[in-house]
Amino acid sequence: MRILLTNDDGIYSDGLRHLLTALSPVAEVFVVAPDRERSATGHAITLHKPLRAEKMNIPGTETEGWKTNGTPADCVVLGILGIMGCKPDLVVTGINAGPNLGEDLTYSGTVSGAMEGALFDLPAFAISVAAYADIDFTAAAALAARLARQIDSGLQLPLGTFLNVNLPNIPAAGIKGIKITSQGRRRYEDRLEKRIDPRGREYYWMGGSLLQMDMPPETDGWAVENGYVSITPVHMNLTDYDTLHRLENWDTGSLLG
Ligand code: MN
Repeated sequence: MRILLTNDDGIYSDGLRHLLTALSPVAEVFVVAPDRERSATGHAITLHKPLRAEKMNIPGTETEGWKTNGTPADCVVLGILGIMGCKPDLVVTGINAGPNLGEDLTYSGTVSGAMEGALFDLPAFAISVAAYADIDFTAAAALAARLARQIDSGLQLPLGTFLNVNLPNIPAAGIKGIKITSQGRRRYEDRLEKRIDPRGREYYWMGGSLLQMDMPPETDGWAVENGYVSITPVHMNLTDYDTLHRLENWDTGSLLG
């Protein structure tokens, strides 16, 4: 089995090293990852400047990989069409430091890497641990290896659908189980802070704390919050089908005047 591995925390991140170490006994792993952190770059691709890829040893492993100046989605394209010379059997992204739940999916470079794999009609999954510090990657790494093995043994996903996996930041023994979930909602408050720089000029910084939302039990956020692994099947069709059907009798002719 050939796996293309990327992430959005960059090729030097601990999460990538843990995932590579866990996947290496299962598959031939091709690492193509950003040369710096690319979190929250979404599905951006690089069209207006050259992409560079440089071979290097992945710190803490015996494996060589490619670091690039591209985004996670660029890395998947580079891997498949440039570096590997063939299609991988599976695209994996992570392990991300920080959850990718609810509306995070829109912004996530981690998720977009897996989405790019799905755009190539390849099986793919993104994996994240819901913490930014003191992260225990062991449960996520072991789960990723088992999931990769299951996909290799024939676990079927529809073309264009990938899996978004999130784990609570607890040791494997503390995890209550796995929930197959839907994408929930995740909102942030005070997303923009206005500050003054040392020269008296205004600047803005985006961030904001998580707003506690009502999380229905079938959602990704509920699962992780309650000690479960969340696995959400995701596809890229953003059509709101309920509304589409509701608008079938809309007299759109008047919009054209
Ligand atoms: Mn990240």
